[in-house]
Amino acid sequence: MPELPEVESLAADLRERALDRVIDRADIAEFSVLKTYDPPLAALHGATLADVTRHGKFLDLTVSTGSSQLHLITHLARGGWLRWREEIPPQPARAGKGPLAFRLRFTDGSGFDLTEAGTRKRLAVYLVKDPADVPGIASLGPDPLAPEFTADVLGGLLAGRRTQIKGVLRDQKIIAGIGNAYSDEVLHAARMSPFRLASSLNPEEVEALHQVIVETLRSAVERSAGLAASELKKEKKSGLAVHGRAGEKCPICGDVIREVSFADSALQYCATCQTGGKPLADRRLSRLLK
Ligand SMILES: [Zn+2]
Repeated sequence: MPELPEVESLAADLRERALDRVIDRADIAEFSVLKTYDPPLAALHGATLADVTRHGKFLDLTVSTGSSQLHLITHLARGGWLRWREEIPPQPARAGKGPLAFRLRFTDGSGFDLTEAGTRKRLAVYLVKDPADVPGIASLGPDPLAPEFTADVLGGLLAGRRTQIKGVLRDQKIIAGIGNAYSDEVLHAARMSPFRLASSLNPEEVEALHQVIVETLRSAVERSAGLAASELKKEKKSGLAVHGRAGEKCPICGDVIREVSFADSALQYCATCQTGGKPLADRRLSRLLK
């Protein structure tokens, strides 16, 4: 799933390639993808791409229609991706069983496809006058790469929250842009158990966690800067120390990377680095072993 660093790079890549290009047409190939109906997608025809930015994990294409500005916003969800194409077929995308969800074509013939792998279709597209009209954007917590995101701000967000730090870091309403992968990475770098209660961190731990959040995301953004959309997934994977690496060796201490599974996700961590050498209980695993 693309998180803050990947969406940041997608935005930069699109700015580089397509700023000032004029939109020929935009079509949905999967009916459920489009979450808004006013203005209609046809309002994009003839509009100029004015900017591409990011709100948390949402990608925001600002287009100018001459008289006003509209925002074409997408959330790629878990299996979604953006694929730039120098040549896009001029006929509208047809609804089908394939991964294609949305297609945008510029008048010069270039454009991009939004695709979604898997059977659970969660990719979302919105066309709005104001990004805040998208409920998921209106409710976003602070952006961890914004200058306002200080250790004090983080301390305020964690105070009184008697929930596990892993869930707090992933909650878009608390902090914008961090998902399952980078929360694993942040907690590993901070040498902190994913099950620590957020409210139990002392000021030094908050300070250290803040520094690790900013450094982890910033270095991921720097690594993917200048990469095309097609190269981002590989880069993300190669930069991860523990996430998605259960069974491999921890790059810091050499212990085996362990996993805790949940209904529809899993977290990875190093027991030596993060939990005093004690493996965390994996309820699904113990149920299987009974
Ligand atoms: Zn380790």
